Amino acid sequence: MYDLIIIGAGPGGYQAAIRASQFGAEVAIIERENLGGTCSNLGCIPAKSLLYSATFLEDIKEKSEELGIHLSGIEFKFDEAVDRKNKVVKDLRDGIETLLEKRKVDVFRGFGRVESGNIQDGFWISYLEAGGEKNKIQGKRLIIATGSSPAFIPEFNIDHEKILNSDDILSSDFKSLPKSMIIIGGGIIGTEMAFLLSLFGVKVTMLEYLPTILATEDKNIIKLLLKKLVKMGIEIKTGQNVLKIERIENGVRVLSRDTFTPQNEEIASEIHEFKADICLVSIGRTQNSKNLGLENLGISLKRKTVPVNHDTMETSIPGIYAIGDINDTGMMFAHVATYEGFIAVANALSSIGGFEIESTKTDYSSVPYTIFTHPEIGSVGLREKAAKLMMKEIGTKLHKGTFHFSSLGKGRCMNIEEGFLSILTDSDDRILGATCIGFSAAELIAEITLAMKYGITAKQIGETIHSHPTISEMVYEAAEDVHGMSIHKFNRRRK
Ligand code: FAD
Repeated sequence: MYDLIIIGAGPGGYQAAIRASQFGAEVAIIERENLGGTCSNLGCIPAKSLLYSATFLEDIKEKSEELGIHLSGIEFKFDEAVDRKNKVVKDLRDGIETLLEKRKVDVFRGFGRVESGNIQDGFWISYLEAGGEKNKIQGKRLIIATGSSPAFIPEFNIDHEKILNSDDILSSDFKSLPKSMIIIGGGIIGTEMAFLLSLFGVKVTMLEYLPTILATEDKNIIKLLLKKLVKMGIEIKTGQNVLKIERIENGVRVLSRDTFTPQNEEIASEIHEFKADICLVSIGRTQNSKNLGLENLGISLKRKTVPVNHDTMETSIPGIYAIGDINDTGMMFAHVATYEGFIAVANALSSIGGFEIESTKTDYSSVPYTIFTHPEIGSVGLREKAAKLMMKEIGTKLHKGTFHFSSLGKGRCMNIEEGFLSILTDSDDRILGATCIGFSAAELIAEITLAMKYGITAKQIGETIHSHPTISEMVYEAAEDVHGMSIHKFNRRRK
């Protein structure tokens, strides 16, 4: 009998397995495809490997002459960039395999499914191997970490040749670039892909249903990003209800209608037609909850997600936990999956007893959001609109400090002038949120995430020595600006 069985070896599952083994638990993990899950194989890692090639290329083209470097005959080979990306993915995947082996986690290959059991007697989990053989293992506790896959709707006719999803674009054999491409969906994945492919020279058209792309982000961030998208020649059509995607002789054809068309005028309203070599459908993700056998134990799904107690990660069945993209906490990020995995492990092992670990609860007050466009976006906590509303409700003022890369010494040294970082605080100087757009935004937001988590105020950040010249001075200058005390910005001291 294992102490813990985990189904799914993405960033949620495999790191939970290692964490449990660090406390001496006997752990088994079942994976139907590749260790590392979406993140390592078809998400974060391959996308960012390619993005690094793309942004490096852009820097060479746009910045080298200003830095006194005159290059000629620059040749970019997409297939070689893909080969490098494939090697990064393989190396990291092999690394995960070694880590699990060294931690003595038993890895079973196959489709995992809950068969029967309860918290007193343990749970029976089957795994169906590729060859068709079905085996069973038993564990005292179970974590479901089966993640998600690209969402699709039948009218979009995804054929994986010309009408693709993100898995197709990031697969190991997507090695030749189209001349033009339509991207359906302006969420994080769609927008990141638009940047990536456009930087490689593809003519990109984006169609988004909502009135804006990246609807969760602050208006001033979107404004700056849009400026860059337009400069790059990316065509963005918002408010588009895509009706149909189909293959035509030399590519694809997309039909859409304005979303503001009143229902009774739909027939008469104009249908827009877009054509390109290929189309990427990036309309969200759907949870891998089918055939997991959860209904065997009485767990009902909530719109394909597995509902959990948001504090403990436990499902309605004691002893069964669900973490990451599969559950209903709604934050589909690799780092959230990992965090939730650690919470589930603490609660699972402490409920068994005999392990030096205590039960714990989640704290989602400072979850970093990162969008790897170019410039990058990083945010944590409340966005400005929500923070303003909250302060208004409690009858107090919102304070904001902002610093621009163009005023930063290190920024100027590195020829980085685009973007800013803003920190929001309440009247007790507690940080409510922060947003950054620009170089290393995702890294910069980490310091503020730590400050928020442990109640460090803007003043205390300002009192912390930041090395000079560094990009990290962006955080310290923005924190000082909350009180009108940034040295490299003209602002009145707040009394
Ligand atoms: P997954 O990573 O989806 O892993 C689940 C695993 O379970 C998979 O390996 C799957 O094969 C396996 N599985 C499913 N069902 C079964 C079964 N029945 N039996 C056995 N195994 C099963 N997030 C970020 O934080 N930063 C980023 O930069 C980022 N970029 C992204 C880019 C793209 C293009 C995409 C698609 C996603 C990106 N994400 C990013 C999101 C991130 O990949 C996911 O949030 C994260 O992988 C979720 O982790 P998980 O462990 O919950 O599930």
